[in-house]
Amino acid sequence: MSRLVLEKIIQSLFAGREVQTDELVHVLSAGDPGVVSGLHTAADQKRLDMTGDAVLLRGIIEISNICIQNCQYCGLRKDNRRVHRYRMPAVEVLEAAKRIMHGGISTVVLQSGEDLATTDSISTLVRTIKSETGLTVTLSLGERDREDYRRFREAGAERYLLKHETASRPLFETMRPGSSYENRRQCLQWLKELGFETGAGNMIGLPGQCMTDLAMDLHYLNALQPDMIGIGPFIPHPETPLAQYPPGSSPLTLRVVALSRLLVPQANIPATTALGVLDKSGRINALHAGANVVMLDFTPVKYRRFYDIYPGKARALTEMDTYLPILREELAAIGRPVG
Ligand code: SAH
Ligand code: SF4
Repeated sequence: MSRLVLEKIIQSLFAGREVQTDELVHVLSAGDPGVVSGLHTAADQKRLDMTGDAVLLRGIIEISNICIQNCQYCGLRKDNRRVHRYRMPAVEVLEAAKRIMHGGISTVVLQSGEDLATTDSISTLVRTIKSETGLTVTLSLGERDREDYRRFREAGAERYLLKHETASRPLFETMRPGSSYENRRQCLQWLKELGFETGAGNMIGLPGQCMTDLAMDLHYLNALQPDMIGIGPFIPHPETPLAQYPPGSSPLTLRVVALSRLLVPQANIPATTALGVLDKSGRINALHAGANVVMLDFTPVKYRRFYDIYPGKARALTEMDTYLPILREELAAIGRPVG
């Protein structure tokens, strides 16, 4: 595919015109560094036009690592008996939420495995956090019944992150045995209907995934137009069936981030932790390729190492309060002040 044709496709994407699957595949596989940097620049410009230069910070608290699912890629899968399981007491979650508030961050993300026993306590927790901190509450607790989502929303949660993981049905079914492709999409629809700001997204480099699968992910995001999009590389975990597979590629992940920005221009797109694990400058690179959000881990250190979704995640075993001023300076240095 000639450089000129690829540049035309990127221009079309920038202008909001529809593109075909094979055109997305060509951009995803382009070998010409000039084309790739053109893609990043287009996404960076779109990010500036739509969201400005400010980087939005979110504070995440990983409230439970108990999970009934058995996702092949994840260290928290139920068959991994080697991980110490925990469920944070509500008072400790509230304390962590207050640290997020005192850090000048306005949104807390409560994330966990599919720990269904928490359903009742979540609504109470959300109410307490809202009344005591005023933070915007994002939940990321996996697939639940519509009624559970409705109760979370009623309690005051405003946003919900549920990555679709992959738009390819066969890959989804291999990667998430026992979980249904339809149900995950149904959950995303319910969340939208219930008035949540909704986040979807996918992994890059899952074993067996091809460029057409990634083009399908992009089509799905384009059709769904989610409010948030999380894109991260697959990172093999030693205690999973995928331990021997290579990680996803950082450059390919950045291309998908950039294409997501062009296809869903108004979305909030984090420079994901997983990108930062693979590559020291991964997060900064993502901020130059369409991303506008950084998530900071406020899980107390004594729990953080057990939230072992993929290796390297819990590496920074310092409390976030000490890191925040450094991050603010780092972002200011690249002309991207904290919003
Ligand atoms: N249980 C919830 C939320 C916690 S998992 C859920 O599954 O939705 C959060 C995200 O971690 C998942 O959406 C998945 O995309 C990501 N993840 C899990 N294992 C991973 C791995 N090995 N490499 C990269 N990302 C992974
Ligand atoms: Fe559980 Fe989420 Fe990990 Fe799947 S990805 S095993 S649902 S924590």
